[in-house]
Amino acid sequence: MGHLRSGLPGSEPATASSQVGSATSAPEVRLRGSANLASPDRMSLLLGRAFLISVFLLSLVLLLHSTSRLHIRYPTMPKKAAKTGPASPLAVSSLPASLRDPSLALPKLVVFDLDYTLWPFWVDTHVTPPIKPNAQHSAASDRTGEHLAFYDDVPSVLQLLPHAGGPEGVKLGVASRTSAPSLARDLLQMLHLPQASDTDVEARPRRAIDVFDGGMEIYPGSKIRHFEKLQKRTGIPFEDMLFFDDESRNRETEKLGITMWLVRDGVTWGEIERGVDEWRRRRGHQR
Ligand SMILES: [Mg+2]
Repeated sequence: MGHLRSGLPGSEPATASSQVGSATSAPEVRLRGSANLASPDRMSLLLGRAFLISVFLLSLVLLLHSTSRLHIRYPTMPKKAAKTGPASPLAVSSLPASLRDPSLALPKLVVFDLDYTLWPFWVDTHVTPPIKPNAQHSAASDRTGEHLAFYDDVPSVLQLLPHAGGPEGVKLGVASRTSAPSLARDLLQMLHLPQASDTDVEARPRRAIDVFDGGMEIYPGSKIRHFEKLQKRTGIPFEDMLFFDDESRNRETEKLGITMWLVRDGVTWGEIERGVDEWRRRRGHQR
């Protein structure tokens, strides 16, 4: 019994007489309490409570963990989505000077990732079909009303970049590892590009999907495979390709000889120019 009491802070040493003495003495009360703690019923109760507390704490930890994953997986929706008003015509003459100068080399194929490169969301996790375009086809919305559009500069980049580099132009392609390829294609069909005023004879804005004349490779897996397919289809050497992507893990594609430019907050004209500069530097072309 002594070891039980010693576990009770502040308890007085009990003598043998006090243990068998008056039923109302304080040491006896404490002893009875100790005996109760040790009783099978009391122990079961305590074990049950401990189990419930453990389950609760474990659930709390799991909830916090999944919430943090959700936070990483679902960042705040479009920060820089394109405006939804009518688009004004684009002029090829408005291309940055470094992309208009015929004396400066350009990549023959420029390839874009989709999620967080051309648009500010993951199409496989943010978008809930069905999707429908707005009247101008400058944006779309999904079943939950989520606004889906390119980053601000992307419509003009997709419309004008093919006209850089003189008559040969620049081909465009897509390399995406999304697990929702058909939804991505649907969105590329729905989103239209503003008309190019001084070269494009088309009267109607083109669908974004139509500019990717170098091909679209959209499926999960290493992008090395995506680029091997793009190379086979176009016959363009890897060294003449420039790739824009927001994930550094996709740098593995550089083993093939392509140049990848990491974009941090979506494609802008500034990122395009910096990517082209890097491609020129690696290929030994001076600006
Ligand atoms: Mg991406």
